[in-house]
Amino acid sequence: MQELAPGVHAYVQPDGGWCLNNAGWVTDGENTLLVDTAATLRRAHRLREAVRASGAPLPSALVNTHHHGDHTYGNSVFAPEATVIGHTACRRETLRAGHQLHQIWPEVDFGDVVVTAPTVTYPDELTVHVGELEVRLIHPGVAHTPGDTVVWLPERRVAFAGDLIFHQGTPFLLMGSLAGSLRALERLRALDARTVVPGHGPVTGPEVYDTTERYLRFVDELARDAHPRGLTPLEAARGAELGEFAELAESERLVANLHRAYAELDGRPPGAELDITAAWRDMELLRDGRPLACHA
Ligand SMILES: [Zn+2]
Repeated sequence: MQELAPGVHAYVQPDGGWCLNNAGWVTDGENTLLVDTAATLRRAHRLREAVRASGAPLPSALVNTHHHGDHTYGNSVFAPEATVIGHTACRRETLRAGHQLHQIWPEVDFGDVVVTAPTVTYPDELTVHVGELEVRLIHPGVAHTPGDTVVWLPERRVAFAGDLIFHQGTPFLLMGSLAGSLRALERLRALDARTVVPGHGPVTGPEVYDTTERYLRFVDELARDAHPRGLTPLEAARGAELGEFAELAESERLVANLHRAYAELDGRPPGAELDITAAWRDMELLRDGRPLACHA
């Protein structure tokens, strides 16, 4: 738990790998708004205890930055006392995904997860007030997923970026859009945040946008070179020179990101449904067959 500004807390789960997301909360001492939960009920209860231990009341509102289970599986630990808020597509995708993490990682004890989708949704922007503090929810377009939300506190210049930003980790666009992720970065930059809470990894500043952008452009160039030559995403990923991006965790995401980049080169719209199973298999193949580990 890190207090970023008066009443603004980040809850960082190291090391930020698969299933180890960040959360946070904003409070004025009377009302608390929570940003995201955790992948397992056990972890969500721990988050709840951390909110309480900070002296803040339990949340009356909960914003999901997107639908992925690591950010939403713990919703039922806070609802119905907390009203769950999210982008329109976040609600749709939460309901559609259901217990998706259980299917991907059947060996993990997520707990008895009740899929709990946002009941208040917004299409473009929504402002929530926590006492005097303005909390702006901004949909940057389809980027990491179809229903992303950036939680922006203009008076504190803190942005909860959700999975638009993986600090020290590899961006992941399989269910979103490459072009959209670049546009979302512009939107983030324009906010002029001082502090950025990424969806995964340590709290950082706006300098993290540069690495993210360089990585996205690297994927774009790789796809534009390999796709016309008839290389599969896996062949392209295997032949790629990662350079500075080799240091980012979960580098196998490159092949999943290429699946998305290829789809866009084929003219498919942002967020169009792809074969997730095929992309997942390719990520494991890129790791010489070693399965991806959920660390929750
Ligand atoms: Zn995610």
